[in-house]
Amino acid sequence: MEALIIAGGKGTRLAEYTTEIPKPMIQLCGKPVLEHQIEVLKKNGITDITITVGHLKEAVMDYFKDGRDFGVKIKYLEEEKPLGTCGVFYLLNGAVKRTVFVVLGDVIFDMDISRFYKFHKKSGAQISLVVHPNTHPYDSDIIDCDDKGKVKKIFSKKGDRPQYLFNRVNAGAYLIEPEVFDGFQGPEKRDLEKDLISSHIVRGEVYAYQTTEYLKDMGTMDRLQETEKHIKTGLVSKMSLFSKQKCVFLDRDGTINKLKGLIYSPDQIELEENAGKALHQLNDNGYLCIIITNQPVIARNLCDFDTLDEIQKKLETLLGQEHAFVNDTFICPHHPDKGYPEERPEYKIKCTCRKPEIGMVQQAVEKHNIDLSRSFFVGDTTTDILTGSRAGLRTILLKTGEAGNDRKYEVEPDQVCENLLQAVNWILTQ
Ligand SMILES: [Zn+2]
Repeated sequence: MEALIIAGGKGTRLAEYTTEIPKPMIQLCGKPVLEHQIEVLKKNGITDITITVGHLKEAVMDYFKDGRDFGVKIKYLEEEKPLGTCGVFYLLNGAVKRTVFVVLGDVIFDMDISRFYKFHKKSGAQISLVVHPNTHPYDSDIIDCDDKGKVKKIFSKKGDRPQYLFNRVNAGAYLIEPEVFDGFQGPEKRDLEKDLISSHIVRGEVYAYQTTEYLKDMGTMDRLQETEKHIKTGLVSKMSLFSKQKCVFLDRDGTINKLKGLIYSPDQIELEENAGKALHQLNDNGYLCIIITNQPVIARNLCDFDTLDEIQKKLETLLGQEHAFVNDTFICPHHPDKGYPEERPEYKIKCTCRKPEIGMVQQAVEKHNIDLSRSFFVGDTTTDILTGSRAGLRTILLKTGEAGNDRKYEVEPDQVCENLLQAVNWILTQ
């Protein structure tokens, strides 16, 4: 792999800094954003780096020169006049022989790029983009993809879009195949998302890679301060999948949203009080939040998988309005008891995922590199507590939802809390 950093933009949202230096040269913790990026690339074994430069380009070129002092090789693509985020790619026509990791020059990130690369190659994509949930999906473009990750559409923050959407936001990092660069003929103003990616989505060549790793643009004053704080506390590097992650596994109904019997319609989704606030604190403290839920509504044929998606979209949208997100959701659609007239027999099985079995926790551990010894299970039933304790997690029983009154199993939680917020406050003291 080689890398391409897009650093030619003007950075008008940080005008007080960027009249003299370009945005990617703004210092965070004593180093320009670009230098933070180059360090992550180097850590991933990527040392051939191209930087597109335009606005105040001398500041970038004088600092990094040919990259030798930073242990990498740097080439520059110089814009004579502004050509948008990717208009200058025409200079790469015929010149790229390997898959290129592309990142916007204002993104503070740390990630295990080899995992992204494996996904990209397996999907057969021409372009893959990193997507993740963020704390403000309501004013972000949202990526709509199928369950394999093939991108169907980008819902612009500015256009009309459905009321409820998954919290799945373009993070500003891509893998792009050489042929894509060969499609650029000459200097022409072009935008990476609106022109390049959109035209490949139409051809079914774009895939979305979901990760829990840290990627955030520092392009506003608020985010500049936030990303600097996160570099300082080590959050940026700790969240990369080179390291084991701490996680809070959460039941859904009665824990995050109010218990209303079996849930088979988005209309039934209403958040528990302070659930958003609770999850926001976990997000902010570097805990992955992963839902582990039994949804026998599928086996009982009360709803289909599309409706389950709609339910999840409403949940993620409501959490997003409170600046909170979940990183992933694992759903068991099965149920063991056969013999009801309406049931879907293919899901009426004894599976290894239905809680209190720990199949879903094991899948999450594998996928997200989770350290069980620093992780927790929170739920409102004895089934949740048994699941957590079988998986080797510390467990918290909530007094919301069923409040443990299901009494199916004789189990003792490590802690009992009134609600999710109290549970989170306890977790954060551990
Ligand atoms: Zn199952």
